[in-house]
Parts: sequence; structure tokens; C-alpha cells
Amino acid sequence: MKQSVPAYIGLGSNLGDRERILREAFHTLDETPGIRVLRASSLYETEPVDFEDQPWFLNAIVEVETDLLPHSLLEQLQKIEAQFGRERSVAKGPRTLDLDLLLYADCVIEDERLALPHPRWRQRRFILQPLSELRPDFRDPVTKQSLDEIMASCRDLKKIIKHPSRSPWFFLPASQRLVPMDRS
Ligand code: ADP
Ligand code: MG
Repeated sequence: MKQSVPAYIGLGSNLGDRERILREAFHTLDETPGIRVLRASSLYETEPVDFEDQPWFLNAIVEVETDLLPHSLLEQLQKIEAQFGRERSVAKGPRTLDLDLLLYADCVIEDERLALPHPRWRQRRFILQPLSELRPDFRDPVTKQSLDEIMASCRDLKKIIKHPSRSPWFFLPASQRLVPMDRS
């Protein structure tokens, strides 16, 4: 992979077999040309924010390295959401799969299609908590605040519950993969 940069992607689902959807999304991301998944956080059960009358979400974060530019990466994420049957009927409503580009290296962008860092990453415990598992040393690329400082000032009171540890949630036997992984 040429000129790859680190990025963090938030995965969420609250419709259908949520765990299976996140597991398959993990592998679909990894099989996408230009994206390699490096690590994943634990899974979290999370209480819905904004539009509250909907089922709880299952959320996780993955760390990837990518040689796609930010807008192309977002485009790939939206294609994968569509592939998983995502429909945009109710804003902030139930979804089979939500893929948010949270952080892309130290990149800061604000245009009609893409905002980086993600506009709400500092206000959501379901993002901060799994990010702290992967990158406890992380600093906000804009304010340079540490993750501990951001978490201490976060006012989000929604419940988030870490799934008890068992075999990694993204484990998928080779026989069940739609597209066998080939890194050669
Ligand atoms: P949300 O994730 O906020 O509940 P959606 O997934 O429906 O809502 O995204 C709405 C729009 O947000 C998308 O059309 C996309 O262009 C825009 N967007 C802006 N910045 C980002 C980002 N960093 N990651 C994902 N989508 C983004
Ligand atoms: Mg989204």
C-alpha cells in the first residue's frame, strides 16, 4: 500500500442481527481496495442519542490504514452502508449499518459532503470509550487536548455497556467469508 495514513471508522447497527452485520462490515472494509483494517475496539451496547424511540445500537471502532483520500474513503463507506441495505428514511433513525469517518490522520475538512474530525466525536461516549481502548494517548488534532481531558468534559449521559470479552467479535471462519482474504 502506497502512502497509507491511519484513520478511525465508527461502526453502528440497530436493526437485524447487529453483531453479524458489524462482523461482516469489518471484513468488507478489510477487503475494500485501499483499506486495511488493523485493530478493532470491543463491542458496546449503546442507548440511542437524538432520536430516542428506537432500539439500542451495537457500536465499535476500527483502526484502518488507507491510501484513499478522505472523500473517496467516505464514498466507499457509503457504498458499504448501501450494500448492507441501509435506507435513509428517518434522520438519526434506525439503521442496519452506519459507518462514520471519525478521524483521518490529522486532517481537518469542512465541506458539504464531509466534516473531519467527525462533528460529534467529542460529544459521544460510544466513540470516546472505544477510541481510548485503541489509542489512550490520542490527542484532538484541532485542540490538542488529550482523550482523558475530552472524556472528563464530555456531558453525554447515555448508557454504554461493554460486551463481556469472548473471542474477538470480528472473528469469521474462512469458510464463511464471502470473498477469501488474499493479501499477496
Ligand atoms: P449520522 O451518522 O450523523 O447519523 P448519516 O450516516 O445519515 O448520519 O450521515 C449523514 C451525512 O453526513 C452523510 O451524507 C455524509 O455526507 C455526512 N458526513 C459529513 N461528515 C461525515 C463523516 N466524517 N463521516 C460520515 N458522514 C459524514
Ligand atoms: Mg453516519
